[in-house]
Amino acid sequence: MKPAPFAYAKARSLDHAIALLDGAPDARVLAGGQSLVPALNMRLSTPSLLVDINGLRELGEISRRNGHIEIGALVRHAQAERSSAIAQLAPLLTQAIPHIAHPAIRNRGTFGGSIALADPAAELPACLLALGAEIEVTGRTGRRSVAADEFFKGLFETALGPGDVLTAIRIAVPGSAARFGFAELARRHGDYALVGLAAAGTVHGGGLADVRLAFFGVGDRATRARQAEAALESGNLDAAVAALQHDLSPHSDVHASAATRSHLAGVLLRRVAAQLDSST
Ligand SMILES: Cc1cc2nc3c(=O)[nH]c(=O)nc-3n(C[C@H](O)[C@H](O)[C@H](O)COP(=O)(O)OP(=O)(O)OC[C@H]3O[C@@H](n4cnc5c(N)ncnc54)[C@H](O)[C@@H]3O)c2cc1C
Repeated sequence: MKPAPFAYAKARSLDHAIALLDGAPDARVLAGGQSLVPALNMRLSTPSLLVDINGLRELGEISRRNGHIEIGALVRHAQAERSSAIAQLAPLLTQAIPHIAHPAIRNRGTFGGSIALADPAAELPACLLALGAEIEVTGRTGRRSVAADEFFKGLFETALGPGDVLTAIRIAVPGSAARFGFAELARRHGDYALVGLAAAGTVHGGGLADVRLAFFGVGDRATRARQAEAALESGNLDAAVAALQHDLSPHSDVHASAATRSHLAGVLLRRVAAQLDSST
């Protein structure tokens, strides 16, 4: 199919992008275009204006400052996958990114685009939840920071308002006691996950503390499994798996039933718990 007619504008600066978005309430930001362009072609999205932010080089950087690693919204998945700074300071992302689609899509798709889209089966929103990341948003009223726990509101819904540009993601540099785990099940490598789990915790007195379990593919958004987190912190893996019945509300679709997803979530929790433990 062909998209509905739309205007196109290339932003010269972040202020210019925000001014362009402000002038057309149904305008959309164009980043890597890997999700937006198919949606336009299928007429699932019919904005009057696309605001292309690809020229904003300052959004394409990975840097370390004030105890955080900062990843610009325009950092491509492939760039993040190869980044030694991310491998060292946010290794959960290095584990997760190869599961995103295929190399051609990772060459164009952006970190910010994936977070702004908030696909419930996407890897990066769950990683940000597990890492307790902060998401920086810039709009007409200035710049604000939103905790990942508050950012994902529902199916493809986020804390971004009209006219907002997601500008960066900030993740605290982990201490030596930090541990991470990641696993997903998909029909074929590169497909969106049927179920996935990104996890973080710290080693504490022979057990785990500060456990954050973020599941994806099992609801309308990436979801923390808080009762399972508490059970894992008490060292009771069976109780953690059982707690998923309360924490998660998986859906049925053509790919898998809710019961299958629920079972697979337990399988993944056992695998990821072993990763968290094996790195102690
Ligand atoms: C065949 C295929 C398989 C895929 N498989 C996976 C997968 O397994 N896992 C996965 O996570 N993803 C997958 N994707 C999606 C891919 O990761 C996209 O790159 C990503 O979802 C969107 O990034 P983008 O930069 O292309 O965003 P775009 O397509 O440009 O934009 C997506 C949405 O986000 C908005 N947006 C983008 N950037 C910003 C910003 N900085 N501020 C505000 N709004 C913004 C846009 O307006 C649009 O609404 C797949 C895509 C395809 C085509």
